[in-house]
Amino acid sequence: MTVSESNEERAGDDEPKRSTPDHAVDFPPVENGVDYLLSVVEHLTAEKPPGPRHLKYAVLHLQAATEVLLKARLQREHWSLVFAKPETATRKNFESGTFDSCTTEGTIARLQGIAGVVIDDKTVGYVKDLIKSRNALQHYGLTYSARSVESHAVKVLDFLLAFVHTELLPALSPDEVRKVAGTLETVGEDVRTIQSFIKRRLNRLKGELRAVQDKTVECPSCDQWAMVVGGQEGEPTCHFCHQNWGDRGANGAADLYQWARTEDSEVIEPCPTCGVKALLLDCVQVAADPLTRCSLCFGCGTRHDDLPACNACEKLYVPDKDTMGLCGECEYLATR
Ligand SMILES: [Zn+2]
Ligand SMILES: [Zn+2]
Ligand SMILES: [Zn+2]
Repeated sequence: MTVSESNEERAGDDEPKRSTPDHAVDFPPVENGVDYLLSVVEHLTAEKPPGPRHLKYAVLHLQAATEVLLKARLQREHWSLVFAKPETATRKNFESGTFDSCTTEGTIARLQGIAGVVIDDKTVGYVKDLIKSRNALQHYGLTYSARSVESHAVKVLDFLLAFVHTELLPALSPDEVRKVAGTLETVGEDVRTIQSFIKRRLNRLKGELRAVQDKTVECPSCDQWAMVVGGQEGEPTCHFCHQNWGDRGANGAADLYQWARTEDSEVIEPCPTCGVKALLLDCVQVAADPLTRCSLCFGCGTRHDDLPACNACEKLYVPDKDTMGLCGECEYLATR
């Protein structure tokens, strides 16, 4: 069995899992990973925009490429490091492929902490998002739009291409390098084509979004500065990927936004203006002022910086002239 087959059959990325060793004799890891990259760009460029089936395989193969290539580097550091528990590693199990291998997130942590590989936070975020969308796809079917997958995938592809060049190729023999060089070139060209296509669409959007810069945020689905909050429906609209936020609407968008930035669920509050639990505290950057982190409601689009919390119920409220330190409801109950 090849690595590809075992990868595709696995359910999630949160659990350690069985895997065949990445050094499979018939298909060495770097060659295998680069082959996955080629498949990703083939699926992304097959149709315009890519259909559901192409998107599905683009996401699955991108996740497989990420895992195989990152692990190839970790394995170069030491083969035992690809075990979920390196202390249980034996050469015999490694060679037969009978072991629980570490998760992709674990691989990144080991690359950073042990192998001294520099991977910036933004990229780690993209990879985590990729794992998340792969799992969502595997379990619930694809819910991300074509534009969103494309724009996200291109960032991970960009990172992996650089990673292959700086971290993996230098350790290969000239013969092995020759084997992957042509494919890498094709992948690079396709990635640049997709990038310039995305850039053209963003340029076209510029005029459209000029008047709403103070309500435009980075879309948590496609990572483009194209999501406008506070529209008529009380739901954010991304002008780039047109992500549909489904039943959870503004709350779902806010949830994904904060997850990508803070991994802290404490920052979403019910908005005192519209009542929807979509007020993100101190973590939103708007296009008009991307250097400041503000508090913004993803439902009604109202800016609510530095709201006081009610002394009685601890809910955030908009203070009026009087200074009792209570929200409207508690004040009403207290003065009755
Ligand atoms: Zn978007
Ligand atoms: Zn609101
Ligand atoms: Zn209160």
